[in-house]
Amino acid sequence: MFSEDRKTRSMQIENNTVVAFHYTLTEVGGDYTEDSRQGEPLYYLHGHRGILPGLEDAMLGRQSGDQFSVTIEPELGYGLRNESGMQRVPVKHLIGRQKPRVGEIVSVNTPRGEVRATVVKLGKFNVDIDTNHPLAGKTLKFDVEILEVREATMEEVAHRHAHGPNTPHH
Ligand code: ZN
Repeated sequence: MFSEDRKTRSMQIENNTVVAFHYTLTEVGGDYTEDSRQGEPLYYLHGHRGILPGLEDAMLGRQSGDQFSVTIEPELGYGLRNESGMQRVPVKHLIGRQKPRVGEIVSVNTPRGEVRATVVKLGKFNVDIDTNHPLAGKTLKFDVEILEVREATMEEVAHRHAHGPNTPHH
């Protein structure tokens, strides 16, 4: 009887469960969209901030087969925009591409090391970049489908992340 009972009640998402899910992400009032179904499902270890805080909070207590939508304010998404992220740097500090287009993501050498940034304006010698995440300051809507919920292995808990089917041994 006990095993019957366990089978019919599927596991709920809580700390140290591993969750596989598909999602579509839409920028509220904007153009950006993302659809995980173009690739493999995402795996994460719940309770370790491996995904956006607002999304992780909305996952709690869900189970396999659940579908839901959640709208996430910037504070619980990619954060607020930081205006000091707007910088003018010499073109020669760009890594790789010397002639990027406006809107393109580039890698830049800075005193803090290599950072990723969006090209805002391109001059002859200097380039204006924005080191904010492209979705910083944006309100995001996620449509989520939970595919699997399982207990994490001891190794996953020790590593503080999920080991999906495609995670190489490390
Ligand atoms: Zn690991």
